[in-house]
Amino acid sequence: MQPFDLVRAPDRRTAVAEGATSHTAQQGASVRFLAGGTTLVDLMKLGVERPGRVVDINRLGLDDIHKQANGDLFIGATARNSDLAHHPLVRGSYSALSQAILAGASTQLRNAATTAGNLLQRTRCMYFRDLASACNKRAPGSGCPAIAGTNRMLAILGTSEACIATNPSDMAVAMMVYDAVVHVQGVAGDRQVPLVDFYVLPGERPDIENVLEAGDLVTHVTLSSPSTGERSTYLKLRDRASYEFALISAAVAIRLTNDGAIASARFALGGIGTRPWRVTEAERELVGQAPSDKAFRDAAEICLEEARPQSQNGFKIELARRCIVHAFKQISQ
Ligand SMILES: Cc1cc2nc3c(=O)[nH]c(=O)nc-3n(C[C@H](O)[C@H](O)[C@H](O)COP(=O)(O)OP(=O)(O)OC[C@H]3O[C@@H](n4cnc5c(N)ncnc54)[C@H](O)[C@@H]3O)c2cc1C
Ligand code: SF4
Repeated sequence: MQPFDLVRAPDRRTAVAEGATSHTAQQGASVRFLAGGTTLVDLMKLGVERPGRVVDINRLGLDDIHKQANGDLFIGATARNSDLAHHPLVRGSYSALSQAILAGASTQLRNAATTAGNLLQRTRCMYFRDLASACNKRAPGSGCPAIAGTNRMLAILGTSEACIATNPSDMAVAMMVYDAVVHVQGVAGDRQVPLVDFYVLPGERPDIENVLEAGDLVTHVTLSSPSTGERSTYLKLRDRASYEFALISAAVAIRLTNDGAIASARFALGGIGTRPWRVTEAERELVGQAPSDKAFRDAAEICLEEARPQSQNGFKIELARRCIVHAFKQISQ
């Protein structure tokens, strides 16, 4: 591992100032915040991330979870994934989020991993993690061996000629359907970014994955308060039953009228896009319809219109359709 400075930030302002300083980095950002470390330290050991400075943010008191006065859920950036998944407010009103977290990683990892760290984890594309391979995300301009290589697990939505890597976060997919907002403290002040605008498509610069700038500290995430009668769930399809990333996943939420029609529906997909994938136009199509396989399948078609399969992952289109239909059926019958 490359030597680095470790700073334990005593307060947010120091963390942001330290985060914005410039240091030598042979790869990745020159300064990285350290939360649970379950992704960052892995990547530093592999030499994929080589920051000159690491800023520990675990003493900033950013781990609270509570309901705000306006009814929205406040989730601190360093709240541990386990604490969030098992929190009574989350289990009671945000089932898809609780299920998504518990479908990821392992108990030990979830005990250490944090909210912001989970949202900011890097792709699991095997070429990205292998320094012997070219990779435009790790070393811009070096090429993308996945396009002509092993791409079964990779994306079919939001891809570019430079990168087809999936975003691996289960939590982000579930947060999408609760209209999550990411709250950021930066050198120029505080700002709020809807999660739907937080991740950027790879285009020609797959090394840029989100709208954060140097020094930007995620302080917390808020979720909108759920409507009365809304039900939600998370369905994750993968090669083995646990400790595995998604081939396809769907977070779905639905509310029915008294006569059984769909009053509102929201859904997002994981394992299929270069960012968590939500298409509001597909959701609008469901409103007013009776819940049925056909209605859910038609919505899936709209969501998948732009899909561009690679050589090994064309199966994801049909798998995604079935995942969406099955997840909605589970909560609308
Ligand atoms: C074997 C294994 C299996 C896994 N399986 C799954 C899975 O199935 N599903 C899934 O979703 N995840 C899975 N994960 C990923 C796991 O969820 C992440 O490693 C974890 O959530 C990252 O959180 P962390 O707090 O440890 O982040 P860290 O490693 O500390 O940080 C990750 C990144 O976020 C940045 N960061 C952290 N906090 C902030 C902040 N407040 N502001 C700005 N930047 C910040 C860091 O600088 C770093 O770049 C798996 C991980 C492992 C190792
Ligand atoms: S898909 Fe993206 S992360 Fe994977 S090798 Fe290509 S450029 Fe790198």
